[in-house]
Amino acid sequence: MAPLQPPPPLEGKKRRIGMMTSGGDSPGMNGAIRAVVRTAIDAGCEVYCIYEGYEGLVKGKDFIRKFEWPFVRGWLSEGGTLIGTARCMEFYERPGRLLGAKNMVLNGIDALIICGGDGSLTGADKFRAEWPGLLEELVQTGELTAEQTKPFKHLNIVGLVGSIDNDMSGTDATIGCYSALGRICEMVDYIEATASSHSRAFVIEVMGRHCGWLALMAGVATGADFVFIPEKPRAENWKEEMCGLIAEHRKFGKRKTIVIVAEGAHDQDGGKITCEMIKDLLADKKGLALDTRITTLGHVQRGGTACAYDRMIATLQGVEAVKAVLDATPDTPTPFIAINENKITRKPLVQAVIDTKEVAKAIEARDFKKAMGLRDTEFIDMYDSYMTTTATSLNKSMLLPGDKHMRIAIIHVGAPAGGVNAATRAAVAYCLTRGHTPIAIHNGFAGFARHHDDKPEGAVREFNWLEVDGWASKGGSEIGMNRETPEESGMELIASLIAKYKIDGLFIIGGFEAFHSLSQLRQARKDYSSLCIPMTLLPATISNNVPGTEYSLGSDTCLNELMNYCDKIKQSASASRRRVFVIETQGGKSGYIATLAGLCVGAVAVYTHEEGISIAMLAADIDHLRKAFESDSGQSRAGRLILVNEKASKVYTARLIADMIREEAHDRFESRDSIPGHVQQGGVPSPMDRTRAVRLAIKCIEHLEGFQDRRDSTILDDDQSCTVIGIKGASVVFTPMKEVEEKDTDWKNRRPLNEFWSPLKHIVDVLSGRPEVPRPE
Ligand code: ATP
Repeated sequence: MAPLQPPPPLEGKKRRIGMMTSGGDSPGMNGAIRAVVRTAIDAGCEVYCIYEGYEGLVKGKDFIRKFEWPFVRGWLSEGGTLIGTARCMEFYERPGRLLGAKNMVLNGIDALIICGGDGSLTGADKFRAEWPGLLEELVQTGELTAEQTKPFKHLNIVGLVGSIDNDMSGTDATIGCYSALGRICEMVDYIEATASSHSRAFVIEVMGRHCGWLALMAGVATGADFVFIPEKPRAENWKEEMCGLIAEHRKFGKRKTIVIVAEGAHDQDGGKITCEMIKDLLADKKGLALDTRITTLGHVQRGGTACAYDRMIATLQGVEAVKAVLDATPDTPTPFIAINENKITRKPLVQAVIDTKEVAKAIEARDFKKAMGLRDTEFIDMYDSYMTTTATSLNKSMLLPGDKHMRIAIIHVGAPAGGVNAATRAAVAYCLTRGHTPIAIHNGFAGFARHHDDKPEGAVREFNWLEVDGWASKGGSEIGMNRETPEESGMELIASLIAKYKIDGLFIIGGFEAFHSLSQLRQARKDYSSLCIPMTLLPATISNNVPGTEYSLGSDTCLNELMNYCDKIKQSASASRRRVFVIETQGGKSGYIATLAGLCVGAVAVYTHEEGISIAMLAADIDHLRKAFESDSGQSRAGRLILVNEKASKVYTARLIADMIREEAHDRFESRDSIPGHVQQGGVPSPMDRTRAVRLAIKCIEHLEGFQDRRDSTILDDDQSCTVIGIKGASVVFTPMKEVEEKDTDWKNRRPLNEFWSPLKHIVDVLSGRPEVPRPE
């Protein structure tokens, strides 16, 4: 029962925060609730979860429940929303919102965090704008007294965008969209196998009435032949264009055809494009005569547990939402929490809602230029990338004149990481559209240096389109990788081979060894004229330890593998008896993977090389575990996880830590160690690694092109001729190697000097309730 009198306001700036999920459910919503509940409690606030979205706000009573710390245990790995969501017609009308306001006041709630789509956030903003009037009316009609409403003069609202469609303007991603994309790609990957076996065509319908993000990204990630999205209908003659392109792909020897259609797809005149229309075209006996099937993915796209990225943004945005509530003044415009590239920011909600609605209006008015213009840079980049990598033959306009053509070598250095092949495929496709010659160097610098001895035929050769076309979703490295650096292979030899093969641009993909290799090549440029060519590195390593970027290809695949592994272990730990699992993660001397996986699975502690491990720290954590298990109620005997980076300590290994915990637990709980090892490299790369691979690889080749007429020693004057591409904060940037090497590289520990994720460790600790523990000196 809701109290009849509002509880007295909390002391000082502490707030009573209402948390709700609204609109369609999306994976990651539970992570957001967990983060809001725990961050708020940690800050001395109270949190009330409002069940069933606005329906619960209007109905009040048991729909509004105070949440305590343990209530959200284990929520990170649960799909959908555990506090329910509903569409509520009453809230569209003022009487419904009056009831909502009354229930807020009666529960003492003075701030609201809402996780939902643009509809839910529009409703929230309307509610806030009307708030003073609603309270006035409640007093006038005698529903509440002036005394009761007095402490509630201002309502603060913060929006979190939870939606699988990724249709909100102002943010690159919404909570849930990458999980939905993951599900789509998984399904398309399955379909591809059968399509290829039977040489069939598949037309696949995905969600997205006004937003083609899912369809477009699925097209990029799977290398689909053709994609239809609402924002940018195909040309008037799309039927001929599609059939012509697919005929060409088939002529190349492709055995499978995949067409992805957003549910809101239409032609230039607004006429709906259906899967049946496409099927009829592809199957037409007088035309392609392909054995064609339709698959409508439907609600599987919503389902399941959230992927690592969604858990991460849900958590970090939930934390930021509570901070925004605490920072709010009566004049603060209502914010929503966005992410741009890798940066979480607060942005005005009203503008984002207006922009989002404008897209739908622009589509309706067939102003597609405006619709695309209102989408984010990443979306537009991805569209261009998609067109470049699939419709190579259609892009004659992109062909450069002969004297501008380059011979661009692509080399993989280090250990395999998800997305390396997708990046290579995209680079090759881009080169071919421009008239460049893409050259494969097999097995890294070691392969390059030794090929002429024993295997002259294989190690250096030109790529062709058909061979790379199927690489969009392939894990590992199709041209082989090696950790050897050019100095180890012999710099003079490498320089002579670059001259021999007339290479005039070098594209390196790989991890810290690749970074080291590029550093050596840069420094050798003054001694060898053949090295006076543009060179760029696309970081790719599961450890995410390459200076110059906050994201390396493969790190997302690794995080997902590790997270899935931890979820399974946690389930086993909970099912058997009270158990702590100590899991050793890879990452070299970088704690990125351990920390981020800790964030995604709710680890009780994360041990990293950066921080080290001490006996006092272990003792404090064991003490914390003892108390935590003691306070568990009968039903919540969930297992707990500790993540240890492989290089965190020479002495305290995962095995030893597990043994120490067991010894100290005195049979009150159990402890085991577990090492996932190379599983962390992942099988099929994640959609994020695949799509970012495409976008970043194309940018790299474009960057090299900028130096096509500067292949001489004058290039040494330009630091941009030797760079590493990276995502830094909210931007994608090429940073000169010289600068990164000198200012941001911890050579001894093979990681950046400034690790952007360091502050996240504190968040992992706070959200798992880890007390302040003594840190090693
Ligand atoms: P999805 O992206 O899944 O569609 P959404 O949040 O856009 O999510 P909606 O059905 O549009 O989903 O909105 C959810 C609820 O938010 C509605 O049922 C209604 O209660 C409330 N709501 C939406 N728009 C408004 C509005 N203009 N005024 C008041 N309330 C609204």
